[in-house]
Amino acid sequence: MTKKDNVHPETLLTSGGRDPEHNFGIVNPPVYHASTVTSPTLAEWRARDFTQQITYGRMGTPTQKALEEAIALVEGGDKAIAVSSGLAAITTAISAFVESGDHILVSDSAYFPTRNFCNNVLGKFGVETTYYDPLIGDNIANLFQENTKAVLTEAPGSQTFEVQDIPAISEAAHAHGAVIINDNTWGTPLNFRSFEKGVDVSVHAATKYIVGHSDAMLGIIVTTDAHYEKILLNFRYWGQHAAPDDCYLGLRGLRTMAVRLHQHEENALKVANWLQLRPEVTRVLFPALPNDPGHALWKRDFEGASGLFAVTLDQHYDDAALATMLDGLELFAMGASWGGFESLILPASPIRTATEWEASGTLLRLHVGLEHPEDLISDLEAGLDRLSTAAG
Ligand SMILES: *Cc1c(COP(=O)(O)O)cnc(C)c1O
Repeated sequence: MTKKDNVHPETLLTSGGRDPEHNFGIVNPPVYHASTVTSPTLAEWRARDFTQQITYGRMGTPTQKALEEAIALVEGGDKAIAVSSGLAAITTAISAFVESGDHILVSDSAYFPTRNFCNNVLGKFGVETTYYDPLIGDNIANLFQENTKAVLTEAPGSQTFEVQDIPAISEAAHAHGAVIINDNTWGTPLNFRSFEKGVDVSVHAATKYIVGHSDAMLGIIVTTDAHYEKILLNFRYWGQHAAPDDCYLGLRGLRTMAVRLHQHEENALKVANWLQLRPEVTRVLFPALPNDPGHALWKRDFEGASGLFAVTLDQHYDDAALATMLDGLELFAMGASWGGFESLILPASPIRTATEWEASGTLLRLHVGLEHPEDLISDLEAGLDRLSTAAG
């Protein structure tokens, strides 16, 4: 299936990257395990083109190509590159555009390991990072330097949920000859149409909603023809790779992502609305709620929400009190990551350097899964009751 303007993304989600005619009529592409790929003649060995052909396992198998094709189609990009994790997608994308002496702008709300990479790896190679207020909008124009090569956005931030004005930031970036790289993990290829909003490179932790079942690590970089080769070369230089079985799980998850996301959103809205009424909850940070400060931008730019949001509580509860709530939850487990079918909860501690993150109480991040929302609410109700009792 090739790019078609008249087909909805949900349809591309089920049809992209499939080729049953060349695969015995079987619905799903097979998992090709490979390192060596042989050439039948010396002439063909000499003529191998790694951008077009399957040449070596590390550079991608047909299973990986199928996943890449499907995701690029769904998000509306030209090409995609699968890598070993979401973090690898971020590091491979950023490092493709910078060299020693360059400068990049990174949202202060960015995923913490992105900040680690900028500070500890890019810094070591002479690339300087300036963190900016995620709500800066078109004022970001003031932060560009002659050597600014890239701007990283993440909307909404995965702990504090500010929605960034990506079209405005993209316009400023392009006016200064820089690329905009967007971490679209929360948005997903379906709910935030990166390439209609001016993004040059969209990166995803496919580990989250694309895989959707908490059983594989996978990253995807989606981009336009203009930037593809540069990123592909960088992918190759760093020895990046995506495992064939994990690509298969990514493709398998992708097929049902639209229905899962709808249900995550519906369940999350029910749980979030209920949480707003609890006396311990001072704020729900979820742009899909009409009273969220990011709601108008979210409504303008997104097609839907995911199941990840946060709440601030009325005080800083100590771990002894928090444990009475969290340890006793039956449906919300504590664990990193999100986007699987199951519910999760964690205390969050945003790290900021350009802006203050002021919260007068504990911040809890919830991932609302596909359980029945009434059962999730009962679980949280009992947990918050335990918390209040423990805090006296
Ligand atoms: C989880 C996450 C990543 C990293 O993904 P991994 O697959 O765990 O490496 C990147 N960005 C965001 C916003 C994430 O939540």
